[in-house]
Amino acid sequence: MSGSMSRRQAIEAVTTYEVSAPGFTEPLADTFGRNVFSLSVMKKRLPKHVFKAVAATIDTGCPLDPTLADYVAVAMKDWAIEKGATHYAHVFYPLTGFTAEKHDSFLEPDSSGASLAEFAGKTLLQGEPDASSFPNGGLRGTFEARGYTGWDVTSPAYILENPNGNTLCIPTIFISWTGEALDKKTPLLRSQQAMSKQAMRLLKLFGHEDVDTVVSYAGAEQEYFLIDEHFFYARPDLMTSNRTLFGAPPSKGQEFDDHYFGAIPERVLSFMIELDRELFKQGIPAKTRHNEVAPGQFEIAPVFERSVLAHDHQQLMMTTMKAVAEKYGMKCLLHEKPFSGVNGSGKHVNFSLGNANQGNLLNPGDTPHENMQFLTFCGAIIRAVHLYGGLLRAAVASASNDHRLGANEAPPAIISIFLGEQLMDVFEQIAKGGATGSKAAGVLELGVDTLPPLKADPGDRNRTSPFAFTGNRFEYRAPGSNQSISDPMVAINTILADSIDHISTELEKLLADGADLNDAVQKVLQEIINAHGAVIFNGNGYSDQWQEEAAARGLKNLRTTVDAVTEYTSDDVIEIFEKYGVLSARELEAREDVIFEYYALTILVEAKETSEIAKTMIMPAAIRYQGELAGTAASLKMAGIESPTPLLGELTELISRLHDAVVSLDEGIAGMHGDSTYEESKYALETLIPATAAVREVADTLEGIVADDLWPLPTYNEMLTIL
Ligand code: ADP
Ligand code: MG
Repeated sequence: MSGSMSRRQAIEAVTTYEVSAPGFTEPLADTFGRNVFSLSVMKKRLPKHVFKAVAATIDTGCPLDPTLADYVAVAMKDWAIEKGATHYAHVFYPLTGFTAEKHDSFLEPDSSGASLAEFAGKTLLQGEPDASSFPNGGLRGTFEARGYTGWDVTSPAYILENPNGNTLCIPTIFISWTGEALDKKTPLLRSQQAMSKQAMRLLKLFGHEDVDTVVSYAGAEQEYFLIDEHFFYARPDLMTSNRTLFGAPPSKGQEFDDHYFGAIPERVLSFMIELDRELFKQGIPAKTRHNEVAPGQFEIAPVFERSVLAHDHQQLMMTTMKAVAEKYGMKCLLHEKPFSGVNGSGKHVNFSLGNANQGNLLNPGDTPHENMQFLTFCGAIIRAVHLYGGLLRAAVASASNDHRLGANEAPPAIISIFLGEQLMDVFEQIAKGGATGSKAAGVLELGVDTLPPLKADPGDRNRTSPFAFTGNRFEYRAPGSNQSISDPMVAINTILADSIDHISTELEKLLADGADLNDAVQKVLQEIINAHGAVIFNGNGYSDQWQEEAAARGLKNLRTTVDAVTEYTSDDVIEIFEKYGVLSARELEAREDVIFEYYALTILVEAKETSEIAKTMIMPAAIRYQGELAGTAASLKMAGIESPTPLLGELTELISRLHDAVVSLDEGIAGMHGDSTYEESKYALETLIPATAAVREVADTLEGIVADDLWPLPTYNEMLTIL
């Protein structure tokens, strides 16, 4: 369905909608991984030596001999064609944060009909999409529009089903002809490798000599809204901006807290069941599904995976959510704040480090020795977040996420760490142990040897902290629902590489000087907690006091994207990204530029749409109602009833205010300028956002006055409570 419809038509269509679910009979478990060219499929189809090499690359990130690609290509093509694929696509993740694909046919038409095209190693290894229309932040001059996609061996190929023919999808990286990263995937792979290298070094100091990789794991909790598609098509603001630019708060919002974990409406449940099925086929381990805080809001969380794979799966999950919702006549809104005054949507990224042998390195474990290693990794995280909180904030910056961060909503823009009482206590002891130089009450004799076993479940949970320890992992809560998890994971991996490197170097020095490991760890952790403990905050992150206290502690409070994104090119950030080979200064500048460009563009589009809706939908409704009221007043007067008309007066006043606000907004739009994307963003922030808000404020007041049958836009009540 396309085009817009009236509010009346939408309500009519919504209330008569009937759910028709396909009614699956096949056990869900049987579907898992069916469409994936997985290790087990490869094991069956590849020569042994090739399979071993591919598996090693996936497990440890070691490079794959390109001559083996021919074997993989043949097996992959045969498998795909058996699965009904007619085309193959290199899938990549440009700087827009979305997913892009270039499809090619397996068939090559020629004079004698169509023959099977060659699909050899080189087709698998490299593609060449016309890259000129993807943002590159100046990395690629338009005279050289070439970009290359390169096969990412570590992420499995999969089949995308369509009733009209299937497609083999091959996850790739996307780089310019000069080798610079034009995508979100390349730095993720690079940062994973950098972190792994440093973490292996640290593990060696703890006696683990034989480690061949350390992986960062990610599990993303995805929040989203569902609304009936008829409402969507009756709201031009949702159609252009994915959020409502108008709308008075609903009379029944989330005050009753009756939606959270409440019964799931049937239509939504049908959607969730089919979604799980689709995700399972792609090997995406969807696990948890439930209602969220706001009406119409829900959450899905897959089981955590290697962060590189979790990234690709997350991207595919977002696409699948939108597609499946449409089958049930709904729109899945991934925008961070589709409805103002109603809870927004985030994507909490849970992460940990580990490998097959050591397990989860952020698991406290129950022996002192494990504790010591665990505390050292925690120390690295504390230092990293303290030094690079600004970067973490920049990594989640966007026009839409600004409605959450730094606004009156979870979590605050100040990046602090929540450790929980128990872990906090341990670090306090470590701090004291050094400060007094004594064996304080026998607790920390010779370092951390006698610590009690730490419990994996730390009784308390702080919901206001952006970066929280949750028992065996950290949860970064600032990422927005619509964002790729790449940027936050790249930042986390890179700053961890730096801090683990720092700690390893310090420990190596102390050990070389003859210190014992316990003493060395105690000393280094004590230094870290003294230098970086300011980032730990276990209190209420929403309070005004925290804003003041954080400032006194020297923590950054970067409220808007414009404040935050320049962190990407601060000297210390460039230094570590270059040092660990994750992104060059040029690549970082490009990213910054693209974010500003999108920020300014998003706000400009919203401003234009606001003006248009105000002029063509809201003003006419208000004027019609004004006419009605004036007519009534005139009739009354003729009938000899002299009636005061305060409502007409109020309405007339609001109409004139709306007119003025729209005129100023139009002036603001016409004046949009800037010598750089940064200047444009600043203009958007300082001029367009307030001018847009001023129009909305009057319009939302009008919504409470104008006769309901004249109001053109579906209301918040309607959109959020009818499903
Ligand atoms: P909650 O809402 O209580 O925070 P959920 O069950 O909704 O928890 O989601 C938790 C997410 O954290 C899931 O994606 C889960 O797989 C992930 N997770 C659990 N353990 C780890 C771990 N060790 N490392 C990374 N992610 C993890
Ligand atoms: Mg959850």
